[in-house]
Amino acid sequence: MAARQCYSAGSILDLPQPLSPKSTAHMVNRVVSAGHTSCVEHNQFVFGVRGISRSCSHQLVRHRVGWSYEQQSQRYVDFSSQDFVEIVVPPTILRIPEMLESFLEPVKAAVRAYFLLRDERVHQEDARYLFNNAFETKLIVSANARALLHFFELRTCNLAQWEIRWLAHLMRAELQHAAPEIFKFAGPTCMTQKICWEGPRGAKCPRLVSTGAELRDRTPAAAAERTSPLS
Ligand SMILES: Cc1cc2nc3c(=O)[nH]c(=O)nc-3n(C[C@H](O)[C@H](O)[C@H](O)COP(=O)(O)OP(=O)(O)OC[C@H]3O[C@@H](n4cnc5c(N)ncnc54)[C@H](O)[C@@H]3O)c2cc1C
Repeated sequence: MAARQCYSAGSILDLPQPLSPKSTAHMVNRVVSAGHTSCVEHNQFVFGVRGISRSCSHQLVRHRVGWSYEQQSQRYVDFSSQDFVEIVVPPTILRIPEMLESFLEPVKAAVRAYFLLRDERVHQEDARYLFNNAFETKLIVSANARALLHFFELRTCNLAQWEIRWLAHLMRAELQHAAPEIFKFAGPTCMTQKICWEGPRGAKCPRLVSTGAELRDRTPAAAAERTSPLS
């Protein structure tokens, strides 16, 4: 509807007339591929996110424009009333039993100390200072499609941190099912534009070869080299 408003000479009241799925796909394709992505700011999506670490949620909430968040509070939730706490263990640590023990020991100590403080009536808003980045969190997250396309560009990139990349892939899979016309454009720029902007870092990425993307650097010197008639 929003996209059609741009090209409609008629009454606004005619806009809600449903388009066929084929015409809708054509319209979305036209605006998104032309970079007219403000049209998809009108499409809002809501996610329930659980099972991610505070480390991951901290990265997620850095996405500011077009996003809204409600996160489980460590101030109001008393974790000592639960039978267990959840944590996220990075796969690199999970693979090595001795490392896993070193990783879990401070987590267990923090949980023990938390319970102790709560027993002494220290409020959870202070007891929570013991929790580290591995502790699990939950959020309700809303974002519009334009913001999500930007997020997928950054976070489905092979060079993004593994946990937020994993989250981004799960979110993208949901959206490609719910709104395939829009989210067929979702992904890192090596896939959507055949350009990798990571500069020398990108040279190590296996996807560079599989996508046939061109490696680019954002520095002015690199841009000048690209446009030089001698290069
Ligand atoms: C691989 C990777 C590594 C990272 N490493 C670090 C790190 O080491 N330390 C760290 O602090 N962060 C890091 N970040 C987070 C990063 O700096 C961004 O905060 C995050 O990716 C959100 O992106 P964004 O600002 O583009 O998104 P949004 O906040 O959603 O903004 C979307 C777009 O709106 C525009 N915009 C938003 N706010 C402003 C503004 N105030 N002024 C002008 N334009 C604006 C920009 O064009 C921006 O791209 C990393 C991100 C990635 C993907």
